[in-house]
Amino acid sequence: KMPPCDFSPEEYESYSYERMLKIRKQNLSPSLNMYYKKPLLLHQGHMQWLFDYEGRRYLDLFAGIVTVNVGHCHPKVTAAAQKQLGRLWHTTNIYMHPSIQEYVEKLTALLPDPLKVVYLTNSGSEANDLAMFMARVYTHNFDLICFRGGYHGASPYTLGLTSIGSYKHGVANGFGCQTTMLPDVFRGIWGGSHCRDSLVQTIRKCSCSQGCCEANDRYIEQFKDTLSTCVPKAIAGFIAEPIQGVNGAIQYPKRFLKEAFQLVRERGGVCIADEVQTGFGRTGSHFWGFQTHGVVPDIVTMAKGIGNGFPMAAVVTTPEIANSLAQNLHFNTFGGNPMACVVGSAVLDAIAEDGLQKNSEEVGAYMLLEFAKLREKFEIIGDVRGRGLMIGIEMVKNKDSRQPLPDEEMSPIWEDCKDMGVLIGRGGIYNQTFRVKPPLCITKQDAAFAVEVFHAALMRHLERTAAN
Ligand code: PMP
Repeated sequence: KMPPCDFSPEEYESYSYERMLKIRKQNLSPSLNMYYKKPLLLHQGHMQWLFDYEGRRYLDLFAGIVTVNVGHCHPKVTAAAQKQLGRLWHTTNIYMHPSIQEYVEKLTALLPDPLKVVYLTNSGSEANDLAMFMARVYTHNFDLICFRGGYHGASPYTLGLTSIGSYKHGVANGFGCQTTMLPDVFRGIWGGSHCRDSLVQTIRKCSCSQGCCEANDRYIEQFKDTLSTCVPKAIAGFIAEPIQGVNGAIQYPKRFLKEAFQLVRERGGVCIADEVQTGFGRTGSHFWGFQTHGVVPDIVTMAKGIGNGFPMAAVVTTPEIANSLAQNLHFNTFGGNPMACVVGSAVLDAIAEDGLQKNSEEVGAYMLLEFAKLREKFEIIGDVRGRGLMIGIEMVKNKDSRQPLPDEEMSPIWEDCKDMGVLIGRGGIYNQTFRVKPPLCITKQDAAFAVEVFHAALMRHLERTAAN
């Protein structure tokens, strides 16, 4: 049930759409991409729902960019934050506060050995900055390997790893960061239709009659080739998202990360899992994305869902790696702030108490299958993939060419979904993939509604193309 609108008529008036749009256009980072032709002016959020100023309700399938995992204004998380707000906002973690101690204890209990030392930071970029730094300090090596299409942050350091050209502005420093081929079995050179054709290979849990596994061997050969030709013999490490997020829920063949981690370790490097999008139950069957690959990384970075929208992030590593950093000072002001730790704890409680991981698995599997059925019906759906509530629907001109669906055809579908009450994310190197990553509290009924709306938007697309 929605809480009532708590704005006075005067306040409401001052937030008029035209005024907000004007301020936005004149005063807010002009390079910031704004979603929708008529951008949304939002007013309130409640769990999986968002409400705009005209009182329209939207099912949020993008969760504030894969962040609001337990739901907008989750009552228990909100209450915990409100309570702490009245007590103590900030100390820095040079002092102790029970919330800090309790939080790291709770967080590390969710991670396998030897991942037991936590560094609290403020954003995913900052977490990955620190992870890069750690890998270099620990190994005394410099070179880091990353995947094409990966997103690891927008700080000058992490932009070296973020391998999507448009974010680099032509000046990002990629020194020491080597981008390697992405084992993408849909758009990559190996894999292709034979990997995914039947609904029963049900979305690449890969009861593989060749397909992905054969492609895997070729991509691994390519990875070895990068290691032997593009970087010095000894490397600092390798970073990967367990499922690529910004690039549109790209899943690697099942064995890839396990084999790649071994090759990296043979070269003296450490393995970093960027769990900024995949962590905290997002992938359903496991709490962390790396667990779906049967690996244990040396460093795990997390942000987004960690605070359900509260700005916080973390790096978790082994005592051995942490000790190498303890030789000198490492500090940041806001990390480990009691507010963040209280919120972080409440988020972990909510995930457990509300059964969100299980819900993500069940509702995710249902949605994935329903979208996969639409793929059979519509020529412009090239691939449907993902795990839990991290789903990518890659749109193409047609299945044979696999050419990305151009924006003039993508956008109207996406706008129609919005007009029918469903907000979807966009992503992919060509902006060709719809990203479905809702709060993990979404119900099966909501999911059915979302699929119905997406189907209706695709039907409208067919009508438009028939009319032209
Ligand atoms: N890693 C991944 C996988 C991400 O998706 C993002 C953000 N999109 C980041 C790192 C950077 O996080 P932030 O925007 O909080 O700096």
